[in-house]
Amino acid sequence: MHPHKLWRRYEECRPDELAAIVAETPVAIWPMGLIEHHGWHLPVGFDTIKAQRICLRLIERTGGVLLPPLYWGWGGDGGHADFKWTHYRKNDVSGSIIREVCEQLVTFGFRSIVALAGHGPYHEILDEQLAYLRPRHPDVLFLFGLEIDIAGTEPGLKMDHAAIEETSLGLELLPDLVDLHALKPGHNAATEWPQTVTPPTSSPYPSLVLNPESPLFSQAGQDARLARADRVNAGVERVIAILAQQIETFGNGTKHE
Ligand SMILES: [Zn+2]
Repeated sequence: MHPHKLWRRYEECRPDELAAIVAETPVAIWPMGLIEHHGWHLPVGFDTIKAQRICLRLIERTGGVLLPPLYWGWGGDGGHADFKWTHYRKNDVSGSIIREVCEQLVTFGFRSIVALAGHGPYHEILDEQLAYLRPRHPDVLFLFGLEIDIAGTEPGLKMDHAAIEETSLGLELLPDLVDLHALKPGHNAATEWPQTVTPPTSSPYPSLVLNPESPLFSQAGQDARLARADRVNAGVERVIAILAQQIETFGNGTKHE
């Protein structure tokens, strides 16, 4: 079993409490993603909440601080920019927030910084920021990526949109916010697109369901109704174990005497 370490939510700490955590466990863990339509059965903040729930399990093992999630993230060409309830930000907006906050965290004394993203193309921003941050701070451990960047796809982690894979992760990580009974027909196609958008008839993602009358609207992948938590729980554990191991091996970093 893993003994629980002391951890706090960054925004809830007073300055002296933060100083004490940095002196003992200079670890900062930051979940990030965006808000976009994730089918009838998943919350619109799914990607970010998924990353946050993984980070919560991780920080119980490592200790440190959990940063408030970055919800205003880059959508890339995620295919859902025109959907109602979606908010994609540009990559330079998300990228500059990530870079500036990480620089400040380093200045404040953090020595292990994890940025876990829950959405597909996000790794492009993270790679760009890593390439900037790593050479400037060789004494800091930066662990950035999506789940599959960290653990690979081998332990059963695959990407889709709101379909069997993401929904299985939902059942494992945020079952309180998933409603499979919501996967039913009957929505009105006339009102489920923003008034400013002409509903698309095709998508670069061949399996993306564009008809709101379908129970599978907004999904890209295999039918979400086949989802099961036990398809993905070993993969989630693998992500957490790899990150925890790297942070533990790194220890508190190199102290400048
Ligand atoms: Zn997603």
